[in-house]
Amino acid sequence: MKIKCTCNHLIIDQTDYLKHKGYLISDTQWFDFWDAIDEAIEQSGASPKEKEAAAMRLRKKDIFKVLWECTNCGKLYVDGKNGELISYSPDNHHYNQILNQK
Ligand SMILES: [Zn+2]
Repeated sequence: MKIKCTCNHLIIDQTDYLKHKGYLISDTQWFDFWDAIDEAIEQSGASPKEKEAAAMRLRKKDIFKVLWECTNCGKLYVDGKNGELISYSPDNHHYNQILNQK
């Protein structure tokens, strides 16, 4: 995936472990997420196949929204409900590495 930012920088998403890509979750979905983890653990079964099936059910819940940060101007692009990108710009117009902080 490639996103052309309004600053003309190209945001590229073609691999894993990107420092400018992240995931967004609402407070209500946060608790649903932990409930789903608890459920997956409790229903994971004894065999490796059952454990894998429980893990896959959790992954399919698709709880998180994807977002990308422009490494030039810091604008955030959030994947909206219908696949459209919704953008937010930082007041300082700099790349703040907001997704690369611990
Ligand atoms: Zn930009």
